[in-house]
Order: sequence, then structure tokens, then C-alpha cells
Amino acid sequence: MTEIKIGDKQKYLLENYPFAEPLKLTDKKKCIHCGEIITVGDFKVFKDAFGDEYICCPNAPDCDGTVIDWIPVGE
Ligand SMILES: [Zn+2]
Repeated sequence: MTEIKIGDKQKYLLENYPFAEPLKLTDKKKCIHCGEIITVGDFKVFKDAFGDEYICCPNAPDCDGTVIDWIPVGE
């Protein structure tokens, strides 16, 4: 997996977020893989060997969580 730099993170999120309700860069989420509260705008993007891009936990590559592993804070 290769990290790619995103210039406009809000635009990237709008275009690539897999769920209907858009995230804001200032939203806080809990990553269930590393257990940490993360700020959405700190997300990293990694591209795999097939060219697919993944919105990953700010703690990547130490954490293998992606955007689908983020839950509302407090749950
Ligand atoms: Zn994580």
C-alpha cells in the first residue's frame, strides 16, 4: 500500500466516502481497530496494487482501520 497525498480532503471525502451521510473534516470518530478518537480530517489515503484507494485511520500504517471502521464517539 502506498500513501497518496490529498490536496482537498473535503472534496475527496465527498467523492469517496462510502456512506450516504457525508463526514465533515472536523468530525470526531472512534476507530474500532486502534480504539482511538480520531479527527476525520486527519485521515490518510492509501492506494493498493490494483489502484484502489482507501480512506484510512490517521494512525495508519500502525492501525489497519479504514473509514468503515469508524463509529460515533461514545458508542
Ligand atoms: Zn485506527
